[in-house]
Amino acid sequence: MSILNLKIDLGFFPTPLHELRNLSNYYSSYNLYIKRDDNSGLASGGNKVRKLEYLMYDAVRKGCDTIITAGAQQSNHCRQTAAACAQLGLECHLLLGGDEPKEFNGNLLLSNLLGATIHFTGDNRKGEDIENVVKILESNGKKLYKIPYGGSNFIGALGFVNAVKELKTQLEEMKLQMDYIFFASSSGGTQSGLILGVDLFEMNTKLMPISIDKEGSNGISLDKAVLELLLAGKNTLKLNTRYSIDDAKLIKGYDKLGYGIISENEKKAIKMLAHHEGILLDPVYSGRAFYGMIDHIEKNKIPKGSTILFWHTGGLPANFYYSKDLYPV
Ligand SMILES: *Cc1c(COP(=O)(O)O)cnc(C)c1O
Repeated sequence: MSILNLKIDLGFFPTPLHELRNLSNYYSSYNLYIKRDDNSGLASGGNKVRKLEYLMYDAVRKGCDTIITAGAQQSNHCRQTAAACAQLGLECHLLLGGDEPKEFNGNLLLSNLLGATIHFTGDNRKGEDIENVVKILESNGKKLYKIPYGGSNFIGALGFVNAVKELKTQLEEMKLQMDYIFFASSSGGTQSGLILGVDLFEMNTKLMPISIDKEGSNGISLDKAVLELLLAGKNTLKLNTRYSIDDAKLIKGYDKLGYGIISENEKKAIKMLAHHEGILLDPVYSGRAFYGMIDHIEKNKIPKGSTILFWHTGGLPANFYYSKDLYPV
């Protein structure tokens, strides 16, 4: 049996793939499409469902009763993990950076509503404190399953290998070929899964990962983390590709202000897609990546006549946390 079948159904797949008709008129030299992982289910959508389908399968198979993971307070990954745990009847512990705020909103509010136990971890937003909490829970007899920051280990990345298979089927049905795929990359699972999937399913498309967070995680840069996932994946999937650091590169420069700092760029992108198509982005990830895409188009960095896919990775609830930065837009 293929490793790609070792998953639990948690979301709504395939997610829709459709043309951005008004924007394709606006940027008339390009054909623009969107892949709607913002409609993937699990407490308001996002790309983490794809990873969680594989991670939760592994957790349940190992007989674990408690899931622990980490992120920023507005982590979509943590919100979706909390929802998956609720669905599967597992206990959920979230380690979130910063101090307990006076008011809960956005993803933090939702994680709380979904029943997760929240531990605030100050400056550490990438799971640096996980072992301390694990020890305490284990001494209370819990059987823990640790999900890394962003769900980005090889098991999680399988969700995006499988996503390429899903995309390939949709494109065949629609008689389309994508020349470029733009998406937000931050903890490496989405990017490495897409790279492996494009190679495994022999798609002729150029991936355009927009870097969201200029800092790496756990002391290594994101391109190195992506390369490690590629090397792990290539063996398991029996691919002959030789991966080097060049294959793991991200498009830098749109992340200059740092993670979660909203500028005119993200606002321009959010407004553009909302006003032309009635589709909402988020200011941290998909808004930054969408800006990267329109900037490439406007600066003629993409050959005219190209067909371009934007992979919407979700993030809607964060808009409510960043309301002060987004009004008036
Ligand atoms: C986590 C996330 C990403 C980035 O995915 P990674 O696999 O962590 O690189 C992009 N967009 C949204 C909305 C996310 O929550």
